[in-house]
Amino acid sequence: MSGTSLRPSPISPTIDLDAPGSQHGFLRLPYSRDDSAWGAVMIPIAVCSNGSGPTALLTGGNHGDEYEGPLALFDLARRLEPQSVNGRVIIVPAMNYPAFCAGTRTSPIDRGNLNRSFPGRPDGTVTEKIADYFQRELLPRADLVLDCHSGGKTLDFVPFCAAHRLPDQAQEKLAFAAVEAFAAPYSMRMIELDATGMYDSAAEAMGKVFVTTELGGGGTARALTVRIARRGVLNLLRHAGILAGTIDRQPTEWLDMPSGDCFCIAEDAGMVETMVDLGEPVAQGQVLVRIHAIDRTGAAPLELRAGLSGILAARHFPGLIKAGDCAAVIAVPSG
Ligand code: CA
Repeated sequence: MSGTSLRPSPISPTIDLDAPGSQHGFLRLPYSRDDSAWGAVMIPIAVCSNGSGPTALLTGGNHGDEYEGPLALFDLARRLEPQSVNGRVIIVPAMNYPAFCAGTRTSPIDRGNLNRSFPGRPDGTVTEKIADYFQRELLPRADLVLDCHSGGKTLDFVPFCAAHRLPDQAQEKLAFAAVEAFAAPYSMRMIELDATGMYDSAAEAMGKVFVTTELGGGGTARALTVRIARRGVLNLLRHAGILAGTIDRQPTEWLDMPSGDCFCIAEDAGMVETMVDLGEPVAQGQVLVRIHAIDRTGAAPLELRAGLSGILAARHFPGLIKAGDCAAVIAVPSG
């Protein structure tokens, strides 16, 4: 971000983020439009605060078609009571609220992908204004940041909690300890295809302990993945000392993404056939994905081979695929 001073955010919270007790309100973002001349986008936010412990910032709906985070966090916001909290929990269950209401990854207002819009702009698009508010108002208040993701309509994942490898070893260690506490079936040391503009990168650059998840996908949530999210969120708050009680430790398998060879990208369009299911082993060189022509009979399918050995961690979800789509992701069990 440039060093020039920025104007204040146009977003105003309807609650006092720094007051003790339990509050439910909105981040009010003025948005003048045809059906509401002096209207606003009303992003739900809850704060539960008591005592002098750390602050956790919990978010879902960064992408609007992912549901484990919102299901776990609307539920947590309703249940959390100040007397059980030591510190502060700030909950925004549906970060990119316009996208969440439309059930789409990006905002229907400006097509903004919130997770590629950081650090945002106070005088930018609606999505950039949301990013800017998190960048300058919410992230600085947080010690621990959890951003819940799933695959959305186009990807499906084995359920994992993740953090990134970081240049600061102490910060990285704290993040992986938080991942372990979340206790998803898989725990990932994650790399990104393109980290520019991500909320993750913004939080990490501020020195925050940042963890994320990929808990399923397909534009829906399953009973199992919602249970994992609910348990993980409580575990994380216990790990941080914000909630009392012991962590519900479940077996977790650590995975690595050692290089860009993890990503299997389609180079043609067609009907996709993933040759193994999520969590199943994959050997380097094995045919992982076949893409069948749909405009003729008699054509051999295009074969995509595994770039390394591991397990299938993610797959393209819809039955049809386009050139450039991520067809599959391999992760490597690392003990
Ligand atoms: Ca996502």
